[in-house]
Amino acid sequence: MTDLSLYEEVILKHSKNPQNFGHLVNPTIEIVEENPVCGDKIALQVEITNNFITDIKFTGKGCAISLSSASLMSEKIKGSTISEVEQNIKTFKAMLIANNDTEFDNLGELRALGTLKKFPVRIKCALLAWIALERCIENFSS
Ligand code: ZN
Repeated sequence: MTDLSLYEEVILKHSKNPQNFGHLVNPTIEIVEENPVCGDKIALQVEITNNFITDIKFTGKGCAISLSSASLMSEKIKGSTISEVEQNIKTFKAMLIANNDTEFDNLGELRALGTLKKFPVRIKCALLAWIALERCIENFSS
């Protein structure tokens, strides 16, 4: 199996069966973010306790890319500290504009979305959940 079809499989799997889809009982922060280019919309909820992301859920509708990105992101950052999350946001954004993927091994399955840099319009779909996450962290920190 080539890397590309493996990556497509990851994106399909997460878009059909998104992880952490739903609502939190007591979210610390909630952010709604839209991508008008594609019609994607996501409502992201995070619960933050003692500087840890103790829980995260999202709802919304959108293309396979935006849903799988939100699902993969939620799996990646659940249980992380705020500073780890900030680092992950930075690394993920860097991956979408990088020339090679070798330095992004620690992103795990999220590397599947790195293939999208060939399709600039889809990068907004991949970034949607991450922009929502970034705004959550900013609101929490301010
Ligand atoms: Zn989209």
